[in-house]
Amino acid sequence: MGVYDLKGEAYLKKILMISTGGTIASTPSDDGLTPTVSGGEMVKLIPELEGLCEITVCDLLNLDSSNMQPEYWVAMASACYTALSTGFDGIVITHGTDTMAYSAAALSFMLMNLNKPVVLTGSQIPIEEPKTDGKRNILDAFRVAADGRLAGVYVVFAGRIVPGYCVRKVYSRDFKTMEAINRRLAGKIVKGEVVLDGNPPALHTAPMALHTDLDPNVLLVKLLPGTRPELLEAAGNLGYKAVVIEAFGLGGIPNVKRNLLPAIEKLIEQGIPVVVTTQCVYEGCDMSVYDVGVEAARAGALSGGTMTPEAIAVKLMWILGHTDDPVRIRELFYKNYVGEISSP
Ligand code: ASP
Repeated sequence: MGVYDLKGEAYLKKILMISTGGTIASTPSDDGLTPTVSGGEMVKLIPELEGLCEITVCDLLNLDSSNMQPEYWVAMASACYTALSTGFDGIVITHGTDTMAYSAAALSFMLMNLNKPVVLTGSQIPIEEPKTDGKRNILDAFRVAADGRLAGVYVVFAGRIVPGYCVRKVYSRDFKTMEAINRRLAGKIVKGEVVLDGNPPALHTAPMALHTDLDPNVLLVKLLPGTRPELLEAAGNLGYKAVVIEAFGLGGIPNVKRNLLPAIEKLIEQGIPVVVTTQCVYEGCDMSVYDVGVEAARAGALSGGTMTPEAIAVKLMWILGHTDDPVRIRELFYKNYVGEISSP
């Protein structure tokens, strides 16, 4: 992938690879798979990368992504920002698949007005194993990063290019695990070529900005028939600043027997926003259809719409990093920053 400087001489795009661990970097140990392989070692295993772009490697973390924490998202976002402000054309981040959706959402909000690509990838099978999907995924991630037409945060996995704000891991083992939830793929990698779905999004006119203030005090609760209201009440006492409820179907909250509405009202009175989303994977929630949704909306709960629970929870952490005023939180929650809010 060549680009030309002012003298017309070809040069290769400069891409920074940030390695953070995950299965892709793992080797067997007495305690199971553990990330040990460095970014440089991974790159050396993929000869096809030669000549595609100029690669610099930064070993930032070496974690199973179950150990990922909001502080590490900040480290990743800061590394991306520094690199992109100092001449790099794009970023590839190798990352565990288990929490990649959260990291992708976090980077989408923390790196505002991105006019360059930040591409996360990983694998279901370690890169040193013969049947690995890691080499293909890294190569594809570099193809997208060096292609340069897409700007923003994406996950590239099993030939798919998924926008970072709507990704979810849907299979625990299958290669095609990363899906775009309630959105289209940004494109695919077909026979080594980056094929976009439609026109790439327009570039930002405002300069890139790094917003790393996060408040991790967000609770995500999945309801069960019989969930006790005391659980929600406890959230306030434990210092949580926002609560996301994965409710039933279109966003149904029980309003009889173990009625959760008074607890939701109490949280909202305490200035703790409550967002309702759905346990269904596809089509999001619509609290206007059933009384079990309408009453929760009347109690003041916000609707997560078609956003993934991952994106909702991370967006709330990011909003809480900016303000604790409930009116402002509501306003910012419904603001579409990177495409996470779908038009009706
Ligand atoms: N447990 C691994 C991780 O998320 C799984 C993977 O990378 O596929 O780090």
